[in-house]
Amino acid sequence: MAQPGRLGAGSPAQNGAVSAAGPPYSNGPVQNPLKHSQVSVSQGYSSPFPGSYPHQIPAKTPLDPSSGPCNYGGSQTVSSLNSYQGPGQTLNRLPLEPNPVAPLQSTIPIPRMPPPPSSQTPAAVPASSDSFLYGPDPSPSSNWQYGHLPVRSKTNNFVPVSTQPSLSGNTNLSRNNQCVSFGAPSLQNNYMKTGSVPPPTNQPLPTIYQPIQAPLGSPPVRSLDPQKKTSNSVPSQPQLNSAVNQEGGISAANNDSVGESSYDTIEGGGFMAAPQLTNQNPKMNRNVGYSYPSLPPGYQNTSPNMSGRPSTTLQYTSGLQPFSQSPLGANHLTTSMGGLSLHSEGLRVINLLQERNMLPTIPLKAPVPNLHEDIQKLNCNPELFRCTLTNIPQTQALLNKAKLPLGLLLHPFKDLVQLPVVTSSTIVRCRSCRTYINPFVSFLDQRRWKCNLCYRVNDVPEEFMYNPVTRVYGDPLRRPEVQNATIEFMAPSEYMLRPPQPPVYLFVFDVSHNAVETGYLNSVCQSLLDNLDSLPGNTRTKIGFITFDSTIHFYSLQEGLSQPQMLIVSDIEDVFIPMPENLLVNLNENKELIQDLLKTLPQMFTKSLETQSALGPALQSAFKLMSPTGGRISVFQTQLPSVGVGALKSREEPNQRSSAKEIHLTPSTDFYKKLALDCSGQQVAVDLFLLSGQYSDLASLGCISRYSAGSVYYYPSYHQQHNPVQVEKLQKELKRYLTRKIGFEAVMRIRCTKGLSIHTFHGNFFVRSTDLLSLPNVNPDAGYAVQMSVEENLTDIQVVSFQSALLYTSSKGERRIRVHTMCLPVVSTLNEVYLGADVQAISGLLANMAVDRSITASLSDARDALVNAIIDSLSAYRTSVLSSQQPGLLVPFSLRLFPLFVLALLKQKSFQTGTAARLDERIFAMCQVKNQPLVYLMLMTHPNLYRVDNLSDEGALNINDKTIPQPPILQLSVEKLSRDGAFLMDAGTIMMLWVGKNCGQNFLSQVLGVPNYASLPLNMTHLPDLDTAESSRIGSFISWLREHRPFFPILYIIRDESPMKAAFLQYMVEDRTESALSYYEFLLHVQQQVNK
Ligand SMILES: [Zn+2]
Repeated sequence: MAQPGRLGAGSPAQNGAVSAAGPPYSNGPVQNPLKHSQVSVSQGYSSPFPGSYPHQIPAKTPLDPSSGPCNYGGSQTVSSLNSYQGPGQTLNRLPLEPNPVAPLQSTIPIPRMPPPPSSQTPAAVPASSDSFLYGPDPSPSSNWQYGHLPVRSKTNNFVPVSTQPSLSGNTNLSRNNQCVSFGAPSLQNNYMKTGSVPPPTNQPLPTIYQPIQAPLGSPPVRSLDPQKKTSNSVPSQPQLNSAVNQEGGISAANNDSVGESSYDTIEGGGFMAAPQLTNQNPKMNRNVGYSYPSLPPGYQNTSPNMSGRPSTTLQYTSGLQPFSQSPLGANHLTTSMGGLSLHSEGLRVINLLQERNMLPTIPLKAPVPNLHEDIQKLNCNPELFRCTLTNIPQTQALLNKAKLPLGLLLHPFKDLVQLPVVTSSTIVRCRSCRTYINPFVSFLDQRRWKCNLCYRVNDVPEEFMYNPVTRVYGDPLRRPEVQNATIEFMAPSEYMLRPPQPPVYLFVFDVSHNAVETGYLNSVCQSLLDNLDSLPGNTRTKIGFITFDSTIHFYSLQEGLSQPQMLIVSDIEDVFIPMPENLLVNLNENKELIQDLLKTLPQMFTKSLETQSALGPALQSAFKLMSPTGGRISVFQTQLPSVGVGALKSREEPNQRSSAKEIHLTPSTDFYKKLALDCSGQQVAVDLFLLSGQYSDLASLGCISRYSAGSVYYYPSYHQQHNPVQVEKLQKELKRYLTRKIGFEAVMRIRCTKGLSIHTFHGNFFVRSTDLLSLPNVNPDAGYAVQMSVEENLTDIQVVSFQSALLYTSSKGERRIRVHTMCLPVVSTLNEVYLGADVQAISGLLANMAVDRSITASLSDARDALVNAIIDSLSAYRTSVLSSQQPGLLVPFSLRLFPLFVLALLKQKSFQTGTAARLDERIFAMCQVKNQPLVYLMLMTHPNLYRVDNLSDEGALNINDKTIPQPPILQLSVEKLSRDGAFLMDAGTIMMLWVGKNCGQNFLSQVLGVPNYASLPLNMTHLPDLDTAESSRIGSFISWLREHRPFFPILYIIRDESPMKAAFLQYMVEDRTESALSYYEFLLHVQQQVNK
């Protein structure tokens, strides 16, 4: 093993670049003579990128002027496809519909929120201009601070109201069995899982077996494949459609590098060709949608064309027989409201001021779309794909009336226990809009299927007639593609622009004095050593390391060296890469050298006095090094970068933390954004680990990850000795980070049925042409959201579909496409729109929109918009749906938790007021809002509270022979606590176990391992491992909660005197705090506004 100071010594570099002299690790600008000599020598190296590297890297991708700065914004907005107006108006895309509710509000300049006590003029702003969705302009003149609301009641408790006998009981909510989510590591079944049997409809099973070779013959019909492409050329536009051409044109205009426009072509286009197609297929206009899949992949015998079409081959034994089930017709698609998923409970109107216990005691489930059960049973898992409105309004006017946001929330790369994988030379897609064939298309006959997104009639290719699962010929309905809403394809070569690249991992470590002080290198290097063999990859996996302080240090890990060799570049003005061929090396072939380096790194810089941080130049070097292959950069930073490009200055002023207006949420430089876009263009993603006790301007630094589709991790006040909790958190999260699945060279496109239009995207990525999301890396912990509008009336349509397609290179070097398809009914009345509202999805989307609003306008503006989102929708509901004007705050059952979740958002770190949130912590919370899957976002916003001192096995889950108790979820109010109990708060990224003063002796001794309350330590973060039933029960419950989370929640055990108690109480969303209303006060405020 190499010793500190010996690394490099006696191991002459092949090129003579590094002399063996000097101890390179006794660092610091003065005492290391090597640096100067090295630089002069090594300048002879030619950088792989001829020409000097500009200090400010120009974006390789001049943006389409029409999309303008939107692409740089907090969210990315597509403008070219529709009339969307562009920057600054992301949240207000359409002019206000004439609104029967609003006239008063929009003309009277009365603020929605009571003005603060100070005499700030509310200004003559129409009240609704603060809302997200409506109003012509997000005029940010709303300074009404929610925190200054006059307080009605000094008590934490609800004022007594006459309580009705609880009718709710939530009986329609069955326990949420996490059927897909928390299982074993992703097991992929080739083809189809046998369990996913087609619905037991009356489709006769074809009995004719076909010799294998026949179906594999060349398809007799036009091939759906795009033209074969060579790896490096922009493919010529094949015969496909003008959509591809048009999008390709956009890309070309963007001057993108080869990759982007080509990816676009590969993934295919959108709807722009659809009008033409309607002409080409005059009979297939949208009216056909009426007979739209009456049964899941069911043949329809309603098509008049069919009769004239002879059955084409003898293999079709029964001719039209398979299609003979009577069409269910319109009524069966979306049954009456009382019908399927919505029981009478769902139709209730609730007065929130009277019914206090609205929070279900089990995890809230996504509403079930009101579709025929045979269709619904094939629908996409809501954990992967869900919509804010499970009843899609048929017109934009109706959507505007409802005053609810329409959008999708996705978790597309989630780890799945069951994932059908199809290997087939023909991936069947719509010739017009490039939609992948899915369970919601309709088959006109065995030879033709109609696209459920653009209604084009397509041919069924010959190969599709053979089912590899059943080995039956002539039954395309049983193909896994039409039996699974979530499926993965092995992509043939035409889905590649170049051969799949090896997985490449580059680690970039801050080794300044400050970094060494924290001791983080010990943890990180140890974690890497532990997980080196578990990095996703194959024999081609490459790895490399860069460290930096005021200079940049590379490590040659070339084969044949006895020790790693350090190369120092001190010219940070014009960085170049010495010996680029030896810096990223094959992991398997050089494992010993790599392990050597990881063992020595933590000690190498312990004597360093160098305080400067040249993060920008280090990232530039990393980018250069990674450009040829793409891959993942993991950068660890402990302070504000101080020298070279990308240097930053402190902007946090502690005494201004409380002011919602003055804080710096926007980046102070576009350096990181531009570099991220360069990375994105070369298929490189950057993940940022920020470990800093000081302000480090995460608003600026975070851009490096946001636009390159990376992740951000933040460990405030990390210190190896003084902060063991953060150390454990980092280790746990690193383990997940290093070993979780990863996809490279990815792009994602979301398509929806013609008439709907996607206009704004949320998450970490960059929008390439039109609506193609560029994801250099994709990971199973990333969530995305999009906003939609209704561009054309959907009046003739019963159902609409949404499809996301993620094309990526697996760590094994396979090109794959993961497709999710969701089907939802279209409705024509406002009441139905409300009945289908998904309050979690709505809250999640609003949170994303509020982050954008905070950045483009101000925090207070965002807070007002959140409040107005409730007021507007409930006002509309009251005026347009309810016939009798009863007193109280009336909400549809589906939205009974809407005010609570919005209040929780207002108290969440991203949007809260008061001095509690440090700037970087707030920014980090905003990053999480943007990048977390909905389930974790909701948990961070409105945690789950359980009583755990009396856990029982009643209703427990049984997973792998382990019994997981399922205690009921409690409301977030101190009212629900009692001194004789112990309560666990699960806030997603943090857990707190509060132990009451009179907690039972049994719990203290059997679970906490202490004889009495007084001996409970003040800062305990682990439950002792006791051999008792109570201990194992709570232990398995907590590990079950923690399982598969992207972030590792530390468990704090809190007693009354603990410093963390304030934090615990902060999460009591329903209670009043210094700067925020109680839930009941909030409801009263909303009621006042609604009833105006
Ligand atoms: Zn189509």
